[in-house]
Amino acid sequence: MDTSTSASDPGGVRVEDELRYRRLLDGMAEGVVETTPSGDLISSNRAFAAMLGYDSVADLTAHVANAADLYANPTRRSVEVRRLAAESSTTAEMEFRSKVGRAVWVRARSTVQRSESGEVVGHQAICEDITLTRQTNQQLSAIVEGSADAIIGTTTDGIVTSWNRAAECLFGFTADEIIGRSVALFAPADRAVEQAQMRERLIAGGPQERLETLRRHKNGRLVEVLITASTAIDSDGHVVGLSVIAHDNTERRKALIALQSSQQRLADAQRIAHLGSFEFDVASGQLRWSDEYYRILGLERSREPSVALFSSLVHPDHLAEVRRVWTEAIRDGVPFDIEIRIVRADSVERSVRAQAVPEFADGIVVTVSGTMMDDTDRIEADRVHRAAETRFEIGFEQAAIGTVISDLDGVPTRVNPAVCSLLERPEAELVGRRWTEYSHPDETPLGQLAMARMKAGHDTYEDERRYLRPDGSTVWASVHVTLVRDESGEPQYFFTQLQDITERKQMEGELAHQALHDSLTGLPNRVLLTDRLIHSLAGAQRRGTQVGVLFLDLDNFKVVNDSLGHTAGDNLLRHVSERLADAIRPGDTVARFGGDEFVIVADDVSTLETEQIAGRVLKALSQPCMIGTQEMNVTASLGIAIADEHATPESLLRDSDAAMYRAKDRGRGRVELFDDVLRSKAERRMATESALHRALEREEFKVHYQPIIDLSTGQLVGTEALLRWQHPDRGLVSPDEFIPLAEQTGLIVPIGAWVLEQACHQLAAWRLVNPLLTVAVNLSVRQMLAPDFAGVVQDVLGRTGAAPDGLCLELTESLFMEDIDYFGSTLADLKAVGARLAIDDFGTGYSSLSYLQRFPVDAVKIDRAFVQALGSDPHDSALVAAIIAMAAALSLEVTAEGVESRNQLDILRRLDCHQAQGFFLARPMTAAAIAELVVTGYRWIID
Ligand code: C2E
Ligand code: CA
Ligand code: CA
Repeated sequence: MDTSTSASDPGGVRVEDELRYRRLLDGMAEGVVETTPSGDLISSNRAFAAMLGYDSVADLTAHVANAADLYANPTRRSVEVRRLAAESSTTAEMEFRSKVGRAVWVRARSTVQRSESGEVVGHQAICEDITLTRQTNQQLSAIVEGSADAIIGTTTDGIVTSWNRAAECLFGFTADEIIGRSVALFAPADRAVEQAQMRERLIAGGPQERLETLRRHKNGRLVEVLITASTAIDSDGHVVGLSVIAHDNTERRKALIALQSSQQRLADAQRIAHLGSFEFDVASGQLRWSDEYYRILGLERSREPSVALFSSLVHPDHLAEVRRVWTEAIRDGVPFDIEIRIVRADSVERSVRAQAVPEFADGIVVTVSGTMMDDTDRIEADRVHRAAETRFEIGFEQAAIGTVISDLDGVPTRVNPAVCSLLERPEAELVGRRWTEYSHPDETPLGQLAMARMKAGHDTYEDERRYLRPDGSTVWASVHVTLVRDESGEPQYFFTQLQDITERKQMEGELAHQALHDSLTGLPNRVLLTDRLIHSLAGAQRRGTQVGVLFLDLDNFKVVNDSLGHTAGDNLLRHVSERLADAIRPGDTVARFGGDEFVIVADDVSTLETEQIAGRVLKALSQPCMIGTQEMNVTASLGIAIADEHATPESLLRDSDAAMYRAKDRGRGRVELFDDVLRSKAERRMATESALHRALEREEFKVHYQPIIDLSTGQLVGTEALLRWQHPDRGLVSPDEFIPLAEQTGLIVPIGAWVLEQACHQLAAWRLVNPLLTVAVNLSVRQMLAPDFAGVVQDVLGRTGAAPDGLCLELTESLFMEDIDYFGSTLADLKAVGARLAIDDFGTGYSSLSYLQRFPVDAVKIDRAFVQALGSDPHDSALVAAIIAMAAALSLEVTAEGVESRNQLDILRRLDCHQAQGFFLARPMTAAAIAELVVTGYRWIID
């Protein structure tokens, strides 16, 4: 047996094979190492030994027994061995120690070696020294990590493979969040196409790309970036991915914008200021113009700047001057500042101001630079301003309104002719001095008032003031002061306008006089009287004196008015007012109170003195006077009231009026003093008044009815409703006492309505038995004044069921002296309702009988004064006969009132009076008593 062949050991490796294998291993560039599963070195090659710094395999084998000794971190080996057991082949980068202890980075591709039975017999690793690459990588990644710019690696499909810290900052995503995901994640939707196209260009072999674009931060905000993208190529030149550097562009952009805008601002400023600039380089002859320079000259930007071009635009008038200063500037370095006109290509003329400053180097002029400003607008404004000044001059001098310019102390510095004529003073008297002596003494100095107002923050002051003319007359002027300030708000001077308003003031004065005076007599009226009384009372209180008030009423004035006419009446009143004015003391007031009533107010008087004044008045009036052609004797009744400390204008007028009435009662033509008797009477009246207010609701009123008898049959034809007041303390109060009071206070309206309702209610009841009966109800003027009084009557009739023709409304003659038109229509309305109308107390009024024809009256009631005189006074009998005859002629029914005797009744019957009413026939009685008469059909024996 061949030993060489037999040298092979069935369980071992043939020696030749072993050697051949070794040679093979040693020839490999990569290091190879084989170990037992526990790590003991079996074999290695030269490259492996060299990799770790050993001279030879033998050198390595001599120093290293187990692979674990090779590892810088021995535990790392056990990790790898376990991985290898699981995966059969692994690749790992590991740090080894070299022979001298240096770090050697090794990439090892390890495989497990198994026996034929599958048992793990060893590990083989093919190793590559990656120390250098790794160091470069580390340096690189340090650069990448430390970069201020985002550095992003992607696949050719745009999947992120690497992501540095700056990328985290710029885009907000951490590496963990973004690696493995598409770059589209941080591109705004409108940039996705741009991004994809850039990638395609690069992959297709395009050059490095640079673009300014936008990316989206994780928080949604857009970031401006400058992107530089290039391809990553492997050693074979294949594109394996892209490398993208993104630079945060925000700041740069900002800076850029800032720069642009500062340039813009300069240009704007130049344009706004109409300031152009130029620069001339003397050596090269090059001229540069700013944009605004072109604009000022009206030239296109495309025109090449040149001295010749400029000269062609200079107005011929200025050309010589321009040439001179320009030559001096470039030759001798003389700066210039000129104002010239230019004529633009479109032949528009502009005024410009050109300034230039030469610059020297070594005593030689090198540049001339300067500015040009378009001054046209300013010059125009100046011209307008001057024109305005001229206009102002003209306006000032020729204005119809007086105009004054005064300094801040209020001293006039200029006045116009209108002021001079207003004050009738020459300019010299008005300028340079205060007008104190020309002002009305009652006026506060104008300067003082105006200054006070300016101090309060107002720049204008208006007033109406009086000035004095040299002749002493007063002129009224409306004054309008304006404080004129300069642009910075500093007060400059006062501008005052004065207008003559004397005429208007006089008119106003007249109007005021008219409002306070009686137009007929010119005496103070009631309004002014009250005002004077207030003043007099206040003064008396201060001085501890008394005020006397005299109330005067002419006697029989109505007779004069009715018989002689209104003109005569007016003349009489004027005459009386003159006499009164003469009779009083100076300072006392005489006023026309109304109609024929006058009031005199005398200050600081005793009762005796007041009575003396009254005596003088009566005496003055007693002188006969001529009214037209008639000589007349005027008498008056006078009442005096003296003010005590509680007096008011109202109380004084009321008291003196009451005293005057007593004078009338006691025979007229005399004086009465308001005394304790009148006072208690007045007090009672006041007490009555307040009691009257409550009487209606306390049901203190009753209505009595007085029968009215037919004088031919003796039958009851009707009744008159007469109001009774059952006062709780005073018993029965006479209507004569409370009805005037109720009329004055207006209480008559509700009271009268109540009476009307009672009467109608009774009428409806009585008519059930006697359908011809009537009821008469007295009306006061006050009731008739209510709007739609006829409607009120109709309501009552409807409510009570009384027949309208059974209701007779009694009116007094005084009504017909009031507003005829107003009452005329009310009376017509009442007629339309169906009620009868009668005139009460007929014959007592002064007015003519003509109204009987003019108004729809059905009956008259002859006043009892005439009836009672029947038989004794033949004159009155004749009057009654005349009334009855006239009534018959007008088809009016006649009732005689106050029949107290058989004789009176007989006469009335003989005169064919239709009806009668009076104590002789029946007194007023209750409704129940009337019902008794109605039901029994009572009849009076009159024959
Ligand atoms: P008048 O309308 O003239 O009423 C007739 C007055 O004469 C009644 O006085 C009556 O009692 C009285 N009288 C009747 N016959 C005689 C007689 O033979 N001799 C005398 N001496 N007197 C007689 P009375 O009731 O005191 O009423 C006084 C005035 O009060 C009435 O005068 C009337 O003007 C007014 N009056 C009464 N009731 C009302 C009313 O309800 N409303 C209004 N506005 N006034 C009324
Ligand atoms: Ca009556
Ligand atoms: Ca009567």
